[in-house]
Amino acid sequence: MKTIGLIGGMSAESTTVYYQALNRLARERLGGIHSAELVIRSVDFAPIAALQAADDWAATGAILAGHAQALEAAGAEAILICANTMHLNYDQVAAGVGAPVIHIGDATAEALKARGVTKTLLLGTRYTMEKPFYAERLAAMGIETAIPEKAERERLHAIIYEELIVGVIKPASQAQVLAMIRAGLAAGCDGVAFACTEIGLLLDVDAMPAPTVDTAIAHCEAAMDFALG
Ligand code: GLU
Repeated sequence: MKTIGLIGGMSAESTTVYYQALNRLARERLGGIHSAELVIRSVDFAPIAALQAADDWAATGAILAGHAQALEAAGAEAILICANTMHLNYDQVAAGVGAPVIHIGDATAEALKARGVTKTLLLGTRYTMEKPFYAERLAAMGIETAIPEKAERERLHAIIYEELIVGVIKPASQAQVLAMIRAGLAAGCDGVAFACTEIGLLLDVDAMPAPTVDTAIAHCEAAMDFALG
């Protein structure tokens, strides 16, 4: 089994999802008491979030590239950036290492296609929903995207940063995000991407009213394909 390197802490709440999912997948695919070969660099998210808010993506890219290099030096044979938003820095991170950096958008597009989705509602941070990097990556893989209305995007961004990232799950927020999903489906989407690695902590991906992909899990599945392939 190959060793996977995780750039985690973005947030720590969802890095635990990655850790659990990768170990579960190793056990499911290999049986017995197998577990995943992992190296983790877990960042302090506060300075990263401050740089995001300041629109200083060159600085976040330099930080993440340094962590990717450290993971490779520690034996990682592939790297995961354990967040959708930070894939804005994908090119900068990938350019600094020899190991492949497995793109969460590619894993998500494959998982959406496997569920028959052609146009997905994209739910994530303001950056993931509004900047072109994520939608373009899905479009290149044949998946169209739509995003919620502005007020809903602001609400979802606040739910992610003020609640999910600090481990708070509120029924009112569950209801609000579910309402966004129903509106997106009514407007023509045939599937949903939880394109923020914390949304799966808020809503059960299997209980949604349309085919839905939890990007964190799709990312782990692609990583385990690599590790065992
Ligand atoms: N984990 C989140 C994501 O998947 C949000 C935190 C971040 O901005 O990195 O986008």
